[in-house]
Amino acid sequence: MSKPVYCNRCTNTIEYREDLIICFNFIKLSVYHNECYSEELKGVSGLFLNNPINSLSWTLAAFILLPLTLFFSFISHQWILMALPLIVLFIRYLSWYLFEKNLS
Ligand SMILES: [Zn+2]
Repeated sequence: MSKPVYCNRCTNTIEYREDLIICFNFIKLSVYHNECYSEELKGVSGLFLNNPINSLSWTLAAFILLPLTLFFSFISHQWILMALPLIVLFIRYLSWYLFEKNLS
């Protein structure tokens, strides 16, 4: 039995992965229906919303940043650079684990 995912705006359950938007609302992970996300963007809280995390751009950024920063870290011996892609990968994984895996 999968855990239901509730929209932060209308509090109804989100049934399908295609209808799911996961984003940061200030510093908190928030989930919305596609339509609720667009309504939320128009309001005051739209100032604190960012791009959806469950988008292709976040997934590509995570997998492109990882080898690039590994390469530059290896050259410059600044291993602290590896923190950025690991944080991006962790956030992407967390959004999948908490919300996306529960939807069809
Ligand atoms: Zn909603």
